Amino acid sequence: ETFDSMGLQENLLRGIYAYGFEKPSAIQQRGIVPFCQGLDVIQQAQSGTGKTATFCSGILQQLNYNVPECQALVLAPTRELAQQIEKVMRALGDYLQVRVHACVGGTSIREDLRILQAGVHVVVGTPGRVYDMLRRRALRPDSIKMFVLDEADEMLSRGFKDQIYDIFQLLPTNLQVGVFSATMPPEALEITRKFMTNPVRILV
Ligand code: AMP
Repeated sequence: ETFDSMGLQENLLRGIYAYGFEKPSAIQQRGIVPFCQGLDVIQQAQSGTGKTATFCSGILQQLNYNVPECQALVLAPTRELAQQIEKVMRALGDYLQVRVHACVGGTSIREDLRILQAGVHVVVGTPGRVYDMLRRRALRPDSIKMFVLDEADEMLSRGFKDQIYDIFQLLPTNLQVGVFSATMPPEALEITRKFMTNPVRILV
């Protein structure tokens, strides 16, 4: 399998190759296509396997770039990881002119409000700040179609369970969900049961 044979749009492929990727990793070979088809996907994979580019590509392929509305929300356990995902999403989506913003604690709330107001396609963030933005109605949930939990086990072990459920409650019911986790403790399995519909399971 190659990136070329995945049915990705030209400008996404350009971004992937320009970023320096030549051949998809195992998780990318198995995960990108089902994600692009709109399916719910559980990917049990360690970091270092290429999981970030898997969900970034899946999101970038499906966005409607003509509307400046948030269509994808990615949650991550730490500020650093959220900001790293933001960078990868922006780089892979360079030729698509994707607008991405990282909503993380420890940064200016005023700046978050300004950027969200201006319009973004994707928000990547930590649960606390994302929930804050949803509560303030600065982040409108109505247009969100894709929801990704990265390092779900790590988020749960950091005590974000309630906030993840609170956020999920605010999102539209017709939602594509991707869960990425190195391990599947009972609380992570519960999330997959409650948030997902007939998920595809990929174990790398
Ligand atoms: P991740 O598992 O998403 O944290 O990615 C681990 C590392 O692998 C990152 O440095 C990526 O840039 C790199 N990587 C991911 N996919 C590929 C690929 N298809 N080809 C080469 N490097 C990759």
